[in-house]
Amino acid sequence: MTSAAGYLAAPRAAISQWRNGAERRGAFTRWEIKMETNSMEHMGGCHCGNIHVRLRLSKPPEDCSLRACTCSFCRSHLPRIVSDRDGNFEVWADDWLLVENYRFGTRTCDFLICRRCGVFIAAIAQAPAGTRAVVNVNCLDDRERFTADPVLHDFEGETLETRSSRRATNWMPAIIR
Ligand SMILES: [Zn+2]
Repeated sequence: MTSAAGYLAAPRAAISQWRNGAERRGAFTRWEIKMETNSMEHMGGCHCGNIHVRLRLSKPPEDCSLRACTCSFCRSHLPRIVSDRDGNFEVWADDWLLVENYRFGTRTCDFLICRRCGVFIAAIAQAPAGTRAVVNVNCLDDRERFTADPVLHDFEGETLETRSSRRATNWMPAIIR
């Protein structure tokens, strides 16, 4: 067939196939993104089960940089800290009376610790944009998936202004339920 109609029929069919394929690919991509989103959600909490956390991160755990801190609190607890400004963190407790909001030093943030089992969960601060947190990945169920070597940070001598702007920029949005 060399008619104009015959000539055009093939590309139309091809376009239609391509569209169907693209739609299928689109659906698959959406499904993949959904799976990926779920795999970036991490549940956890304290050892005795009183405190519960849900952490959503914008990248896979093995790609998350972790931080350790040289302050006397962190030297004794050895948390591995993660923060993701594009993620978010939720924490709730069966009994808030069993949750310590420990403050020390500049007293500008709360270190959430279970009073019953002693697990350090997260540091929480109030920023102009809302509640912000950094989270101890050791309290997550899948803590072993966070494989980066923690980078040691020394915040000693930091001014209050620098500290609050660093938290506003780097800490992740948090919801306390
Ligand atoms: Zn506990």
